[in-house]
Amino acid sequence: MSKLSNLIPPDEQVSFWSGVLDPESNLDLISVPPEDLWREKRAGLVVIECPQEIPCNPCHTSCPTGAIKVEPLTAIPKVNYDLCTGCTICVSKCPGLACFVIDKTPADYSIVKLPYEMYPVPKVGEVVDCLDRTGKPVVEGEVLNVTEPSRDGTKVIWVKVPKGFEMTVRAIKVKGGE
Ligand code: SF4
Ligand code: SF4
Repeated sequence: MSKLSNLIPPDEQVSFWSGVLDPESNLDLISVPPEDLWREKRAGLVVIECPQEIPCNPCHTSCPTGAIKVEPLTAIPKVNYDLCTGCTICVSKCPGLACFVIDKTPADYSIVKLPYEMYPVPKVGEVVDCLDRTGKPVVEGEVLNVTEPSRDGTKVIWVKVPKGFEMTVRAIKVKGGE
């Protein structure tokens, strides 16, 4: 059985994938921060859901602190979490939409900072549908910030989610949008 089925029930494994995960993905290969550091790191830490050996490295070349290494070019990204500042540049630069920054430091909620290349662009304060990896709405979330860290058109949306949804929410949908 696919390890992704731990996160997505098999009958919901449809063609919407937030990044480059697919039903055969080995979740042991995704980059998840150490929990103790994650709970303390203001601004959050990167989660990279890129377990495939593909020739790609904008996450590596764009990271201003050298926290991500893709060596050789087809390797799976490795993260030095002591160097990650949660700046979200890799989130905007990854062509696979496979990088997310997650801030667990607020007491009552968490913040998922995710890539967004759709229209309409949500506004700060707007309540949006938060989607899982299959594109299914799982919870509503308030947009806390809309940024464009690389000034290249790719937005990074900061969405407030209830505790426990950090590793479920991977996209958003503006209510009434396509
Ligand atoms: S969030 Fe910023 S510091 Fe952290 S890995 Fe991504 S680009 Fe590097
Ligand atoms: S830029 Fe994205 S798709 Fe490319 S190696 Fe890095 S995480 Fe994977």
